[in-house]
Amino acid sequence: MNKMENRYAKLRAKMEEMGLDAIYVSSPENHLYVTDFDNPDGYAFVTRESAWVFADSRYIEAAKAEATDLCTVCLPGQPGLLEIVKDHGIKVIGYEDRRLTCAGLENLKKTLAEAEPEFAPVGGIFTQIRSVKTPDEVENIVAAQRIAEGAFAHICKVLTHEMTETEVAAELEYYMKKHGSEKPSFDTIAVSGSASSRPHGVPRPVKLERGFLTMDYGAMVNGYHSDMTRTVSIGKADEEMKRLYYTVLEAQCAAIEAIGPGKKNADMDKIARDIIDGAGYQGYFSHSLGHGVGLEIHEDPGLHGRMGDAVLLPGQIVTAEPGIYIEGKYGCRIEDMVLVTEDGARDLTDCPKKELIEL
Ligand code: ZN
Ligand code: ZN
Repeated sequence: MNKMENRYAKLRAKMEEMGLDAIYVSSPENHLYVTDFDNPDGYAFVTRESAWVFADSRYIEAAKAEATDLCTVCLPGQPGLLEIVKDHGIKVIGYEDRRLTCAGLENLKKTLAEAEPEFAPVGGIFTQIRSVKTPDEVENIVAAQRIAEGAFAHICKVLTHEMTETEVAAELEYYMKKHGSEKPSFDTIAVSGSASSRPHGVPRPVKLERGFLTMDYGAMVNGYHSDMTRTVSIGKADEEMKRLYYTVLEAQCAAIEAIGPGKKNADMDKIARDIIDGAGYQGYFSHSLGHGVGLEIHEDPGLHGRMGDAVLLPGQIVTAEPGIYIEGKYGCRIEDMVLVTEDGARDLTDCPKKELIEL
């Protein structure tokens, strides 16, 4: 079974479980997942036996070249969705309730009114399937990560104290684009000094402040994201900064060490949090330990206390990104991506962190 046949087999098994005759796929990530074609303005329609991709005239040539041959490529209206639903006797159509807008659903209902199908929300059908990565998906994520690591080595070489936070972010993004990244994985974070206490701070057009510089960014390869955070010191680090940095590092390494198949997601968060709390920083690790990464930058599964009894599965890729943030002072985060394997875990991030780098 090739990559796309494998995806269809998994999706159709879920469709059968949920009693769906078809799924209307409109979100860009799930569209890419089922067609292998990046079509920001189109949609796909997958039944138990067939699949169609609808691309408008701007994308039709690319669709014919790139979409998997498991789907039929057509311009909207050739044939129309209504004809397909009628011809194939489709009674129950799943829609992406987490992604499709209310207006989009109304529009779909209007288009298909004559066939009187039932509409059913698909809920987590795609996020569940996509959370477990196949080897080709892991390869794309690792390729993106290697580009991001190159950008880190580059910024360590070219950074000067005269640079602004926005210049640091621009330098990282320029390097990644030049080295094969389709686009930044998300808005690059590069925050220094007092702004480093904001976990998702926005780079400012101001010179780097002394203290911590936190850089959280990623590259993209074939639609797959990478995610990494490194915190360095601008100028010499004082003892307090070192204590904070090495506490975060210890928490992160302990969590990564613990990750493995069958381990509770919530426990991974607790392991990191206990170390941070135990070092006297209770309440300063203000977000969860991590999240899945793939066609979306944040996807299932989460690593946090609200995961109940959920356990990690081989093939899942999660981030481990503890941080300590002291408002008005500074903050620090270290983030790696980790692949859950059959017998443990593999850290996909290969980028210095053992010593606090002073620039
Ligand atoms: Zn990140
Ligand atoms: Zn992250």
